[in-house]
Amino acid sequence: MLKIIPLGGLGEIGLNMMVFEYGESAFIVDAGLMFPEDYMLGIDYVIPDMNYIKQIKSNISGVVLTHAHEDHIGAVPYLLKEMNLPVYGTPFTLGVLRKKLEEHGLFLPVSLNQISPRSILELGAFELEFIRVCHSAVDGVGIAIKTPLGLVIHTGDFKISHTSAAGMITDVNKFAQYGEKGVLALLSDSTNVEKEGYTISDQEVGDTLGRISTGRKGRIIIGLFASSITRIQQVVDIAQAINRKVVFNGRSIETTVNIAKELGYINISEEMEIGIEQIGEFPDEEIIIITTGSQGEPMAALARMASGTHKQIKIKKEDTVIL
Ligand SMILES: [Zn+2]
Repeated sequence: MLKIIPLGGLGEIGLNMMVFEYGESAFIVDAGLMFPEDYMLGIDYVIPDMNYIKQIKSNISGVVLTHAHEDHIGAVPYLLKEMNLPVYGTPFTLGVLRKKLEEHGLFLPVSLNQISPRSILELGAFELEFIRVCHSAVDGVGIAIKTPLGLVIHTGDFKISHTSAAGMITDVNKFAQYGEKGVLALLSDSTNVEKEGYTISDQEVGDTLGRISTGRKGRIIIGLFASSITRIQQVVDIAQAINRKVVFNGRSIETTVNIAKELGYINISEEMEIGIEQIGEFPDEEIIIITTGSQGEPMAALARMASGTHKQIKIKKEDTVIL
């Protein structure tokens, strides 16, 4: 019997974690956390219930990560504290995870194994093939899982966009190939699936950002998700086009940008990027600040700028803030 057991993440945002089990063979897809609801006072974050996986611990051959969002990898440190499993993920996902493990002071000999789109991985009775998907976190993959009973497709988080950066476009051909072969189960969910229509494309967002940013007098401050590397690259390109220096501010954004730079997922020339302490050396109309807090998270850099509690940046009248 094939068992597919979600330990979280269905019908809720966050806590994505799923166990695949066939006989004595099992593996896990993602281990995410959830940020607390308003009623969960005093709680920093929520992690999935790991009792079941503790019971089948000796059968689990690894944890496979689809992408670098917190709701998919945030609980990995807690999982590894329970059981030291090999971890599989793409370079960017593993880069973000490595940093997270350091922050948790987790210096176990963790085995982090790099996978890439269209590569194959055997885990016990299962054979996995990774499929590139486009998502707001770069370097995401879906998984085609060959089980002894048939094929299961786990899409991960994805969007279908034909104008996104090369190499980051959802590999619809691969999905179609599997579709023709026959699929036992498709596991796919989508935020806002009930809403009709399309979301605007990356290209349109880029064009709009460019239009808003051009000809402004003061500084431009843009709030983004730290893992939205593709969007950050768009802003960097705009900054270059309108001769502004880029400042990254906020711990999570600085971390992910450094990882992305090291791995070549983001291109920014050295002379374009300046540190927050250099901000006074340039006129306001030559600065773009890329920061976190686009959803109004109370502790994020943008909220601190807005409330006047940010150490280096106070929002001025002429500044343009883009969320
Ligand atoms: Zn995601």
